Parts: sequence; C-alpha cells; structure tokens
Amino acid sequence: MMKKIVDTARQAFATARSRSLDFRIKQLQAMKTMIIENDSEIRKALKADLHKSECAAYSYEMMGLLAEIELIIDNLHKWAAPQHVKKNLTTMGDDVYINYEPLGVVLVIGAWNYPLVVVLQPVVGAIAAGNAVVIKPSEVAEHTAKLLEKIVPRYLDKELYPVVNGGVPETTKLLAERFDHIFYTGNTSVGKIIMQAAAKFLTPVTLELGGKSPCYIDKDCDIDIASRRITWGKFVNCGQTCIAPDYVLCDKSIQGKLIEKIKETLKEFYGENPKESQDYERIINQRHFKRVLGLLQGEKVAIGGEHDESSCYIAPTVLIDVKPNAKVMQEEIFGPLLPIITVKDVDEAIQFINQKEKPLALYAFANDKKIIKKIISQTSSGGVTGNDVFMHFTVAELPFGGVGNSGIGAYHGKHSFDTFSHKRSCLIKSLSMEGVNKLRYPPYTQKKVDWAKFLLMGKVNKKKLGLVLLPFVAVVAAVILKKYRWQLAGRGLQLAFAVQRLCFKQDQ
Ligand code: NAD
Repeated sequence: MMKKIVDTARQAFATARSRSLDFRIKQLQAMKTMIIENDSEIRKALKADLHKSECAAYSYEMMGLLAEIELIIDNLHKWAAPQHVKKNLTTMGDDVYINYEPLGVVLVIGAWNYPLVVVLQPVVGAIAAGNAVVIKPSEVAEHTAKLLEKIVPRYLDKELYPVVNGGVPETTKLLAERFDHIFYTGNTSVGKIIMQAAAKFLTPVTLELGGKSPCYIDKDCDIDIASRRITWGKFVNCGQTCIAPDYVLCDKSIQGKLIEKIKETLKEFYGENPKESQDYERIINQRHFKRVLGLLQGEKVAIGGEHDESSCYIAPTVLIDVKPNAKVMQEEIFGPLLPIITVKDVDEAIQFINQKEKPLALYAFANDKKIIKKIISQTSSGGVTGNDVFMHFTVAELPFGGVGNSGIGAYHGKHSFDTFSHKRSCLIKSLSMEGVNKLRYPPYTQKKVDWAKFLLMGKVNKKKLGLVLLPFVAVVAAVILKKYRWQLAGRGLQLAFAVQRLCFKQDQ
C-alpha cells in the first residue's frame, strides 16, 4: 500500500504539473481555503487532542500557517526566479545562474504537540518548491490526524499530496520507500531511525528535533517582565512546546522573587485553579502523563505539583534547589515542570549550558545586552531570543531549526523554499570567444597560465587589476580626447603594457 502511494506521487510528479508556479500557487490557495472553511472542525480536533481553547487553536496553529501561506504566495515568483550570479572575464558572454528546482517526492512526518502547524508548515514549503509530498501526521494527536486525512484530499491534488495515517509500523513501511527528501519533526531517538532509513537511498533529511532549552536570568534584569514571559513560554500548551524554556539558571539571590512573580503571573493567566481554566491545556496521553510525573519524583516543589491521571492534568509546577544531575535534568521535560538551578554568575551558566547537548533554543534575560551577546558568542543552539522566549520562531526571515542533537536543517519562509529546492548551477556558454578557451587547451605554456590568472581575476589583486586595465583606460581616454586619436592611443597602450608587464612580474 505504501509503495502504491509513493509510486502514484512519483508518477504525478513526473507529469511536471507541480513544477508550474501557477499550479503551486493554486494549491497553496486551496490549502488556505481548506483552513478557513474547516475552521471549526480544526478547533474541535485540537480541543479533543490537547484541550486547546478556540483562541489558542487559532493563534498558535492556524494563524501562523495562514501567514506563512500568504508570505510564500506573495514571494514565490521572486524566490523561484533564476538567480543570476556575478560573472568573471571568462564568463562575460555566458548565462550563469542558479536554477531552483524541486527535489521530487518528499516525505513530511509530523509530531503531535502542534499537530496542525507542525505537519502542514513544512508541506507548504515543499509545495511551494514544486515537490510531491507524502504527508504523515502524528498518530498521537489522532483527532487532528484523522481530520487531515479527511480534508486534505478535498482541497489539494490527491495524487501529489497524499495523507498517510498510522503508527510506528506504517511509518516504518513508509520509510522503506525511496524519497528525495525526508522532513521529520519529533524526538531525537526517532530522528536517528529516520536518518538510518534515509541513508539507504542517500536521501537528504531535515530533522526538527528537541532538547533541553536553557533560560538564563541575570540578577540585574527586570524580574517582573522576565517572569511573565517565561511563565507564558513554559506553560503554554502544558509545556509541550519544542522551544519551551526547559529549565532556568539564575543567581540564588533572585530565586525567591522569581518564584513569587511566577506565582502571581500564573494566577493572572489561569486563575486560582488552572484545572478550571479553558486556556490551560492537557498532557497528550497517559504515557506522557506518567513520564512527566516520573520526573517530579524526589524534587522540591515550590509551585503546583497537583495532578489528575484521568484527565491527564498536571498543574504548572516550579521546582527549586534542583541538582544538576537530577532525573528532571537528564531529558527534555516536554511538560509543565520548570526546574530552577542556581549558578553563581553568567560564566557558570555558560559552562553549565556547554556541558549539555546543543539545545534547540536558548534564552537569556539581562538589562545589559552585553551579557546576552556574551552568552550568544560562547554557546551554541538552534536559535536564541534575548529578553523573551519563543519569539525568534515567529520571524519568518530567520531560519528555524536545531544544531547538533537538536536537529539538522531549517525552515520557515524563504528558508523552507530553499530546504525543499535543489540549487542547480547552470552555465550556458557562448560558442564564440574560442580564443579565450584556447588558454585551457594543451600545449600548456607559462603565457597561457599568466593570461588565465588575469582572466580568472582571483589571482590578481584589485590594485594590480587596476594597472592591468590601464591599456583599455588609455584607449578610451584617447578616443575621448579626439584631438590626437590613435597616435596618443598607441603611446598610451605602450606605456600601459609596460606597467602591466611590471605588475605581472611582481605578482609571480
Ligand atoms: P511523535 O510521537 O508524534 O513522533 C513523531 C513522528 O514520528 C510521528 O509521526 C510518529 O509516527 C513517528 N514515529 C514515532 N516512532 C517512530 C519509529 N520508531 N519509527 C518511525 N517513525 C516513528 O512525537 P514526539 O517524538 O513525541 O514529539 C515530541 C518531540 O518532538 C520533542 O522532543 C519535541 O521537542 C520535538 N518537536 C520538535 C519540533 C521542532 O520544530 N523542532 C516541533 C515539535 C516537536
């Protein structure tokens, strides 16, 4: 069955209809219509999967997707146009450009935490670049997955963009097929399985993974603002966000104030009891509920800690005096627990961060921007936001992706288009100028080498190039002067060639 789906997509791609820019734009417009016309169905599915409120469903899933589609439609002609590059003296009469071509049949595998946008945003990029796309939503967010299977074929080309649902066995079968690119979002362990499967056909991959994203809070910083922004970023979607601040590093002297402010903010956001707030989500399933709860064991709870297995509810929870080797510090939390670890200064924080795998995101709060810049220059992560959380993700001009253990490759906006395109180098030579070409044919002589050096420019520095161009300048000047014409031009040329010989000698 998987073979048939992939073969059909490949045959459809071979018809070349997905290459036409008009076709791509029509498909993207159809995707936009699909989201708008199925607005309430989508909100219902997200509510059923993660208890997302109607507003959160729109703000965190649909709005970003619609904005991405708009951006791509507005820019596609410009992005897809051949990109002419700088020429040198040997290519002056030729066409030299980069052609953006689709990769072929792409597999997009999505995760469950933002089950609409995480699946469809890469698909938008892949369609924009002219590919066929096999879409594999996460079976863990089953309502959204089923909805996508139902609505996508109603709006998009069925052969080019099939939706395949299923769990590990189905995904494993799918991965046995040949693709031209695999775009996977999910955890790092499965990322390795994807890469192994891709290696069989040398298929390139984009791996959008996770990790423990640190958040440093300098003691000289607006704790009020920092607490609000961190509380929002940590507890939105019940902590199940790949770029959520995983843990806080701060000076012991501010820990008390931080906790007090987070408590106040939680009350403001979710009321006295977050369980009753329509804006507080749930853990996706019992398996993840048990996993997150397991990380709580033995830790000192400063805020929250309440939970209810039957509804997969875990209250927003802050842990203090957490030891660096605690269980909660060994894996990505991906739930509503915020451990605070105290450090004596920014240098200790940097050291702490650098001992761990490179994270997907890194956050630093400080009044002094130099401290933020210092952290940026001495650490590595997929992305960084200073004095806030998440927000680098929302800037379409910035590539979104990880580094090292947190991922390979990036997307969003033009970066998505690039990810799903092959940049083909194109050179169409003129059939004239054979005199210049003779320089590369045997028999080889030093003179030919000297001319080649000159023509390729890389071997002549700018000052010397100026001297080399002197003969031409001399001729042009003579013609402009008119009065002496070729007599002067002849003398000018003699002088210019003498200078040129001199500079070539010095260059050797
Ligand atoms: P998941 O369980 O939904 O798995 C992701 C996909 O992998 C699913 O489609 C699933 O069918 C497939 N899969 C699972 N096991 C597989 C196997 N053994 N073989 C083949 N395919 C398999 O999602 P998850 O992994 O629990 O997602 C959470 C992780 O994803 C977190 O680490 C989070 O940080 C990360 N994430 C990253 C981003 C990002 O953009 N970088 C976004 C969202 C989530």
